[in-house]
Amino acid sequence: MRKPVIAGNWKMYKTISEAVHFIEMIKPVAAQAGHCEVVVAPPFTALAAAAEAADGSKVAISAQDMHWDKEGAHTGDISAAMLVDAGCTHVIIGHSERRHDHGETDEQVNRKIKAALEAGLTPIMCVGEVLAERESGLTGKVLTAQFEGGLAGLTAPDFSRIIIAYEPVWAIGTGRTATPEMAAEAHHLLRGLARERFGENEASAVRILYGGSVKPDNVGGLMAQEEIDGALVGGASLKVDSFTALVNYR
Ligand code: PEP
Repeated sequence: MRKPVIAGNWKMYKTISEAVHFIEMIKPVAAQAGHCEVVVAPPFTALAAAAEAADGSKVAISAQDMHWDKEGAHTGDISAAMLVDAGCTHVIIGHSERRHDHGETDEQVNRKIKAALEAGLTPIMCVGEVLAERESGLTGKVLTAQFEGGLAGLTAPDFSRIIIAYEPVWAIGTGRTATPEMAAEAHHLLRGLARERFGENEASAVRILYGGSVKPDNVGGLMAQEEIDGALVGGASLKVDSFTALVNYR
C-alpha cells in the first residue's frame, strides 16, 4: 500500500506571518487525515517559521529548490544542510518553473537529488513534458530522459526515499488538467521505468504524484486512479479551504 501525499507548492507566495497562519489552520486538518501525508512548500524566507509552527504536527515542510553544494560562493542559493537546519524534511527538485526560468538541466537535478538524499531530505522530483512534446508524441521519450538523467547513479535504497511528481507543463497554472486516464498512463510509464531500473519492490512502492491544475473538483477523479499516489498542487494550495478540500479528497 502506498500512502498518498498531498503537497502544496506555494511558489513565490506568502509572507512569514501568512505562512504561519496557514500552518496553524491546516494542522487540525492534517491531524485528522490519517489516509495521506500532508506537505507544504513555503518560500525560503518562511521555511523556519513554518517548520516551527508545524513542529509536532502532521504537516511536513518542504523547500522548493536547493543547491547541490554543501556551501560555497553561490549568491542567492541555499544548501540542503540549511534546509534541514530550517526544519525541512522534503525538497522539490526539478520543478518545471526551475527548469524553464533558470535553465535547470537533468544533470543539475541529479546533483541536487544526491545532495538532498545525503542530507536526509526527501526529494520530490518533478518531471513532465511541454505541450509541443505531447502533441508530437514525445511524452514517453521526455519522461524517460528526465527520469534516467535525474536519477542517474542512484541505488535502489536511494530511490526508495524519493517521491516523483508527474507534472505536464501545459497543465501547470493553466486551468487545463490532464484527464485522470492521461495522468495514469504517464504514471504507469514512470513506474515501468522504475521497475526496469530499480526493481519490482521499489517500483511498486514509489509514490508518484500528479501535478497540474489540481483543484477540489477534480482531485477525486485523479485520486481514484490506482496509479496516482497524491498531488503536487500550486494555485489551489494557497487557500486554507481549497487545500483542506484537497487533503480530504476522499
Ligand atoms: C505546481 O506548481 O507544481 C502546480 C502543479 O501548479 P498548479 O496546481 O497551479 O497548476
